[in-house]
Order: sequence, then C-alpha cells, then structure tokens
Amino acid sequence: MIDISKKEVWFITGSQHLYGPETLKQVADNSKEIVKTLNKSASIPVQVVFKPIVKTTDEIVQTLSASNHAENCIGVITWMHTFSPAKMWIRGLTSLQKPLLHLHTQFNRDIPWNTIDMDFMNLNQAAHGDREFGFIVSRLRKNRKVVVGHWSSEKTQKQIGDWTRVAAGWDDWQGAKFARFGDNMRFVAVTDGDKVEAEKQFGFSVNTYAVGDLVAVINTISDKDIDTLIKEYEQTYHLAASLRSDGKNRSALIEAARIELGLEQFLVDGGFKGFSDNFEDLHGLRQLPGIAVQRLMQKGYGFAGEGDWKTAALVRAMKVMGSGLEGGNAFMEDYTYHLDPSDPKVLGSHMLEVDPVLAAEKPSCEVHPLGIGGKEDPVRLVFNGRAGNSLNAALMDFGNRFRLLINKTVGEEVKSELPKLPVARVLWKPLPDFETACTAWILAGGAHHTCYSENITAEQLEDFAEIAGIESLVIDENTTIRNFKSEIRTNEAFYSKTH
Ligand code: MN
Repeated sequence: MIDISKKEVWFITGSQHLYGPETLKQVADNSKEIVKTLNKSASIPVQVVFKPIVKTTDEIVQTLSASNHAENCIGVITWMHTFSPAKMWIRGLTSLQKPLLHLHTQFNRDIPWNTIDMDFMNLNQAAHGDREFGFIVSRLRKNRKVVVGHWSSEKTQKQIGDWTRVAAGWDDWQGAKFARFGDNMRFVAVTDGDKVEAEKQFGFSVNTYAVGDLVAVINTISDKDIDTLIKEYEQTYHLAASLRSDGKNRSALIEAARIELGLEQFLVDGGFKGFSDNFEDLHGLRQLPGIAVQRLMQKGYGFAGEGDWKTAALVRAMKVMGSGLEGGNAFMEDYTYHLDPSDPKVLGSHMLEVDPVLAAEKPSCEVHPLGIGGKEDPVRLVFNGRAGNSLNAALMDFGNRFRLLINKTVGEEVKSELPKLPVARVLWKPLPDFETACTAWILAGGAHHTCYSENITAEQLEDFAEIAGIESLVIDENTTIRNFKSEIRTNEAFYSKTH
C-alpha cells in the first residue's frame, strides 16, 4: 500500500538577469543535466523535477508557492549555480511550506588549472552564491537540510535520496487519518498526549471509534472470504496442529481471519493509514486482534497497542521512509532484559503485535491464552528477529513540545529455542552501551513503545524532527550522560522560549 515512486521533489536553480541570456541558458542546461543524473540514481526513490531558473523575486514566489499546492511535490531542492541576491528569496521562502533541501554543489567538479578564466569563475559560483542563499535561510530561522558534494558522486546522491525518503514520510502525514478503537490504556501516561497540538504540528488527525462499530463491520465478513484468507495463512506460515482443519482450535483461526478482514475493511472504508486498539476495550470482539494487526502492519499500516496513537503514526511515517528498502520498520516494546554484566541486552516484543516484517524466518501461526483482557485465546505469528544495525525511535508529548528520541541499536540473532515464549521477539544491544543507553533513555522520558527500524538512520529521523519543528535527541556511540543531560537542559530553555 506504500508507493513513493511517483512523488516529486522540485529542483530549483537560483540566478539573476545580470548574467545575460547566454549564461542563463548555460545555467539551465547544466541544471537539466544534474536533474537527469539524479533521476538515474538508484539512491533516489522519487522523481526529481527540473523547474525553470528563477531570476526575480516574483519568479521565486511563483515557483515556491506552486510547490505548496502541487499534490505530488513532497519537497524542494535549491541550488545557486551562480549568484542569486538573497533578498529576492525572502517572500518565497517565507511562504514555502514544503521541506527544503539546499544542495551545495558546483557544476564543474574540478578546477581546470590550465584553462581557468573569468568565464569559468563567473559560471561556477556556488561557493559564494550558496553562502548568500544560506544566510537568508538562516536569517529567516528556517529549518532545512544542507547537502554538500559534487552532484555526480554516489555519496551526495545517497544523502539526497535519504532526505527524499524523510520528505515522503512527512508528506504522508499531511492529512493522514489514524483511528483509535477505544481510548488510552487506563492510567498510562506516556502513550497519551495532545491530539490537537499533534494535528497542528504534524498534519495528521487522530479520532476514536467505538469498538462496536468495528465489530459491526467484522460481522459482515463472508465465510467465503474467511476461507480464502485461511488458505493464505496455510500457505504463508507454519500452522500449529491445533489450528489445522481438524484441530481443536480451528474456530479461533476462523475468528482471527474474520477480525483481520473486518479490521482491514474498516480501515480501507475510512481511508485510515494506521490505528491503535486497547485490550481493556474489546467489547464484542472475541479475541484481542493478534495476527490481524501483525499482517496489517506488514501491509504498511501504522499501529501501536494500548491506544498509543503517537507511536502508530510514527510507525507509519517510518514505513513510508523505508519503503522499498531491505529490512523493516515495526512497532516494538522494550520488554525484558538480559542483565548478564558481560553481555547485557534487551528482548523486545509485545503481547501479540510484533510486525512480521522483522521475521528472520517463516513465522509460525499459533494460538495461546492471553493472561489479560479476559477474552478467547488469540491467534498470533511467532518468529525471531534478525541481526544487524538498527535503532529505536519514540515520540513523547512534553506539554510544551514533542520530543523524538532515537537510540542506535545492534540487532542480534536469537539463538535460544525459547520453547515457552508464545510471542515474536527481537534481541538488541543499545549503543553506546547498555547502562549509558538506558540511563539516557530514561532521563529523556523515552517511551516503552517505539518504532524499531532496520533501514532508517538517526540522521534521517533528526531531519524528520526538523521538518516537523520538534525536538530530537539521539543516543548513539558518542553519547555521554553528562553531555546528554546538558542537551536536555538546553532544549528545555530553547523550547520554552520559542513555543
Ligand atoms: Mn504495550
């Protein structure tokens, strides 16, 4: 359900009339060549669209205003091949609502030492043209991404591509709808928050729907559609003996399939990009949705349990950012620790809802009792996570601001059998080390719910927070508690002033 390939970033080159028509034609031709090259790059997952060179205040206003209204445009890239006096950019940048990337590059890579003359110097002016532009963006206090390097280099293209993924995640949030079935888990603090402020800051809306309305849709699902879905379960997973056609819990599987189809129907009908539920509020549902939620997350829906709409939205945005890449983005919870001093680590899981996008092998489909909720035994997919670099991200509401907290982690292979653990699980070690990471996470008020990512970088999430205009904090290989505390205190002052 996620496809960002048709999304566009506009490539806008600034100049001025002073140079005369001949040079301006050269500037346009050079820009077109850069755009052509960027569109060939495997690192850039969206369309880069050349826009005519802007040379006056009005042209800049017109182009940037048009980007605000262009539905497929997720962001703009600006570059000053020549000098573009930056007062000309004030009105346009002030009205710009799309994310901005300032590409600091030069058309000619190398100085032609033997032939360089003033014509070369006057054409290849980004070294000072981009500084003039950078000043005005800073003067306007506007967040933007700056990428530096020659446009032909893979490294530069990768940085641009990574940012377009971030912009696509942001674009996806604008106007997105998230459904909550039931309210927040009773008395829980971190999963709650200000949905009005979130809509203002992030562009998505969150509204609650009665579980009874969901049950009404579930009850319309036909036996034929349930049979078809169960065949898919049988082909896709190792089915536990008790769930097979002659098994004693077959009826639980039928009910699970009915819930999945009804839930999906509800989400499709309402145009929702994600949802949350709450095991305390399942009125009329016979099981807590397990496999249903797991498979819908794998399809691209954002989800988090216990009414946690912030994490559900974050999971969705990160799924969009990572679309088409190896690895996954998934709702996660720090569940249990292994506190062996020589090898401490975290076992991540949830009651049921672990996204099979993380599965290292073919999941098994099982049914087990659930200790809470007082409902029938729910069906779930059980599997192990993978080894590899990863991170956890969490979004919290601090009253005067939202904070996006990111911790780099290293995923580990699950080597033990865990014969009595009836849920999917992921093992990781947080960076820089277990004690520092957990101390910093707790000092930052980090949630127990996260989005666990195998393909998004901390830098991308920092860029995402800048686009959103919220705080971000990163716990990584360079974190020390002293500096981290200082950063929290500095941010407290900064956000007190500006919000
Ligand atoms: Mn939870």
